Amino acid sequence: MRTVIYPGSFDPFTNGHLDLVERAAKLFDRVIVAVADNDTKRPLFTVAERRRMAARVLKPLANVEVDAFAGLLVDYAQRRGACAVIRGLRAVSDFEFEFQMALMNRKLNQRLETIFMMPKGAYTFLSSKLVKEVARLGGEVSPFVPAHVEKALKAKLKPRRR
Ligand code: ADP
Repeated sequence: MRTVIYPGSFDPFTNGHLDLVERAAKLFDRVIVAVADNDTKRPLFTVAERRRMAARVLKPLANVEVDAFAGLLVDYAQRRGACAVIRGLRAVSDFEFEFQMALMNRKLNQRLETIFMMPKGAYTFLSSKLVKEVARLGGEVSPFVPAHVEKALKAKLKPRRR
């Protein structure tokens, strides 16, 4: 049984994330989408909300589960019996940070491999950060996120009356 972890903020889950999970689900027996509980990134959505949104879109994929984790990724991966971690590479700009992370994680646990996957071309420009920015400014985000995520973004970013 080969388990892989796909860690991230998923704030919120986008069609780019989905593309990667679908690819990973074909390669591994089990994919665990692990929502990072990391307040330093000041996420828009709570961990519970991010988990729920991811779980809803991933429901049809039988060998995919959604979980949350705090602390070191290598420790979490070991606890879950994973042999590898999936990360996405969209453009060269992702490379430097991901390269550092992968080598640091290898230093911390040399048995844990990091596998990089490229999304479909149409998603190479897509990030949660950009989706939030477009939604905040009132732009259309339906091509980039599942419908329930779009709804959640609208609800979260609705201007409050004073
Ligand atoms: P993090 O805060 O860890 O960067 P993200 O939720 O932004 O978390 O992304 C999680 C992983 O998914 C990262 O490896 C990121 O590069 C990858 N990713 C995000 N968006 C896309 C996309 N559109 N296509 C491919 N990979 C992506």
